[in-house]
Amino acid sequence: MTEAGLRADEVVRLEDLHGSGGVGRRPVTIVRGDGARLFDDAGHEYLDLASAHGWANLGHGHPEILEAIHAQTDRLIAHTESSYNDQRAAWFGELAAVLREAFGENDHGVLSRISPSNSGTEAVEAALKFARVSTGRSGVVAFTRAFHGRTFGALSATATARYRAPFEPLVPGFTHVPLNDLAALDGAISDTTAAVLVEIVQGEGGVHEAQADFVAGAQRLCRERGALFIVDEIQTGFGRTGRWFASQWVDAKPDIVTLGKALGGGIPMGAAVWRDRLGGFEVGAHGSTFGGNPLACAASRAMLRVLRRDDLPARADRLGARLLGRLRTSGAPGVREVRGRGLMIGIELKQAATPVLKALTARGVWALPAGRTVLRLMPPLTIDEPDLDRAGDILLEILHDG
Ligand SMILES: *Cc1c(COP(=O)(O)O)cnc(C)c1O
Repeated sequence: MTEAGLRADEVVRLEDLHGSGGVGRRPVTIVRGDGARLFDDAGHEYLDLASAHGWANLGHGHPEILEAIHAQTDRLIAHTESSYNDQRAAWFGELAAVLREAFGENDHGVLSRISPSNSGTEAVEAALKFARVSTGRSGVVAFTRAFHGRTFGALSATATARYRAPFEPLVPGFTHVPLNDLAALDGAISDTTAAVLVEIVQGEGGVHEAQADFVAGAQRLCRERGALFIVDEIQTGFGRTGRWFASQWVDAKPDIVTLGKALGGGIPMGAAVWRDRLGGFEVGAHGSTFGGNPLACAASRAMLRVLRRDDLPARADRLGARLLGRLRTSGAPGVREVRGRGLMIGIELKQAATPVLKALTARGVWALPAGRTVLRLMPPLTIDEPDLDRAGDILLEILHDG
């Protein structure tokens, strides 16, 4: 029996019966998490090299996040932005300070206007809506292999045909050009372009990085032509790549940044943040029932505090460099290329990633795909070094055998 009072076979039957079908499941029932470990209903242990799909930068059940959540649930779980709230005010201030330090100033000021929501895709929606009203234009240029979410606006910015095709027609005005192709971008930005939207390291699309000179060129083109430059840091943010934000590797100075995943410390949360001189929405233009709720704000504040105090971005940089080095020099026959920064690592295989993922799961390592042939590793930044080494050993054994 699980905590929910169900037998193992009932769990599977009910989920298969009632699930939407939109998300593929591994045949495992995860019931508990502790640090970088997940446990199934039979007590088997998995090293979580996925950070539960990219959000658990501090692992599962971090005591300081739990304490912040418990304290806030006793006071107030949610109230909209239609009133002021002490937790939200404190979070606004602390997040803005973090962003000011990481992203500095550009000619639109500092990143200080925050539109809070409950997911990454909503953060992208808010960024797109704000870019439209701020510029009076409607076009958006995004990149091939991009992933920005599943709602209609964010999906229109997402490139992958498999995600898009069943839901067409999408929002008009979106175009896609290859990442790091400045000539193509030059040709795509017109006087109707509201924004260029980019991931500095494409996550779902296979762990591909934007180059610094490309980013500089993209920012220059945006300024010359009156478009806003938006960076999606939903997956790359909060230490994942070995800096607080991936933008810092390439000196990106976005006008708008989108945040999610790790932002809420495990409580669903997203945010679009833009520069102060761009102004704000008109009253009534945008909002969300749960956006900026005090519970998520309290959890996010605890996450930010621990990330800084324990200098976890630097830890991710150090552990990531070691793992990347191991993978790059392994000589494993099925590996075409190893990419990434910090603890966001993509291993391009010569064949499909699924069999390797299955073998990893069977040996107690939970990893992710990023497209058909790329294996993606994103462990919690807090993972114990012996655990990361062991996961690396298992992966290399599988890659050598495969
Ligand atoms: C996960 C992700 C999103 C979507 O976030 P959700 O919380 O799943 O809606 C958007 N952009 C990027 C880069 C992501 O990795």
